[in-house]
Amino acid sequence: MPCMSRRRGRIFAKEPRSAQGNQLSAATMHSASLRGPIVKSPLPETLCLSCGLCCDGTLFRDVELQPGDDTAKLRAHGLPIPFAAPRGSRFSQPCAALCADLKCRVYADRPARCQQFECAVFKAVASGAVELPAALKTIRQTRQMADKVRGLLRDLGDVRENVALAKRFKHVKRKFDAGELPAGLNAETAYDCFAELSLAVHELDLRLRAKFYPIGD
Ligand code: SF4
Ligand code: SF4
Repeated sequence: MPCMSRRRGRIFAKEPRSAQGNQLSAATMHSASLRGPIVKSPLPETLCLSCGLCCDGTLFRDVELQPGDDTAKLRAHGLPIPFAAPRGSRFSQPCAALCADLKCRVYADRPARCQQFECAVFKAVASGAVELPAALKTIRQTRQMADKVRGLLRDLGDVRENVALAKRFKHVKRKFDAGELPAGLNAETAYDCFAELSLAVHELDLRLRAKFYPIGD
């Protein structure tokens, strides 16, 4: 099938199951994996196909490959899998296999991390601790928060939509720290926009930590 569900990796948080940590302002980003039992539960479709945050570069910045992953197949599907370092290598997010409708184009062959990952929202609904409508509201609000960050990054000249949010913010911050302001903006506007971006990133990080990163990772 062309697309099914997807997987995840985190961005503004601690080190999860896939390796590398990330850091975003006061946050920490990472990479990670995806959700598990997808076929038997309706949750992946109900929740995950309304979300995509663990595949689109919001929660994670990359996916760490595991020994059993079929890298040849994943490459054939168009994922940018490095040829060197077969163990411990990663591919970046936003994932090239994430479709516009939030399905995973390589679902049947998705990496182990993607198969294993379930965010805290997912687990809470699965356990009955959180009602589905409340979870969908959380997802909707969080996607809006991520969209706000993307918009502010664009306002500040970073239009790299194929790069994870944490990396983009880090890049913009580095430029401001070096006194390199975006072209086309006066200094006051640029700094105001950067302040708004920093706050938006912080709020997103808090939300991801509170609601999405699995407890105990
Ligand atoms: S392969 Fe990509 S789109 Fe599919 S589940 Fe993994 S990260 Fe998500
Ligand atoms: S609900 Fe959780 S597991 Fe599902 S797509 Fe969103 S972040 Fe990923």
